[in-house]
Amino acid sequence: TDIRALLLSRIRDVADYPEPGVMFKDITPLLADPSAFTALTDALAEIVERTGATKVVGLEARGFILGAPVAVRAGVGFIPVRKAGKLPGATLSQAYDLEYGSAEIEVHAEDLTEVDRVLVVDDVLATGGTAEASLELIRRAGAEVAGLAVLMELAFLNGRTRLEPALAGAPLEAL
Ligand code: 5GP
Repeated sequence: TDIRALLLSRIRDVADYPEPGVMFKDITPLLADPSAFTALTDALAEIVERTGATKVVGLEARGFILGAPVAVRAGVGFIPVRKAGKLPGATLSQAYDLEYGSAEIEVHAEDLTEVDRVLVVDDVLATGGTAEASLELIRRAGAEVAGLAVLMELAFLNGRTRLEPALAGAPLEAL
């Protein structure tokens, strides 16, 4: 079966969400379909194996939903990268710019070290700002970036080009 067509058929376009002029890609129909969710999990787990990643980092919040079953399937640990203020232990944080204002993400400092090779998982790559900040966080923790894997890339926003320096040759896989 054509996994690309299956996945696309389970992503819903929602006009004018979260604000006028934006076409939001809603992945909840995919999550509700066990054959599509399983196919996605298997495809992402295959990328963990192919890139030799030893940990999966999921980006809050939909990156948690996708990344956690992938880590279990691939037999590696799952590390949450959260919005600032949510993790109880000692953290490393990274600020990044949004269209209006800025945001900050954090990871538990003890979760990523020099021995780790990390695959970052998220649902949608848009401008690439969130992914870029996560790659900087991972490198600052001393870990190696194995790659970035997303369900969907909004290519017209050119996130792939923006991410080239941060990826430094590591693969960006969009299913
Ligand atoms: P970026 O930082 O690349 O501009 O935005 C990516 C982040 O925003 C991701 O964490 C992603 O979950 C979320 N995002 C942006 N646009 C969409 C969208 O159309 N659909 C979904 N599901 N998430 C989006």
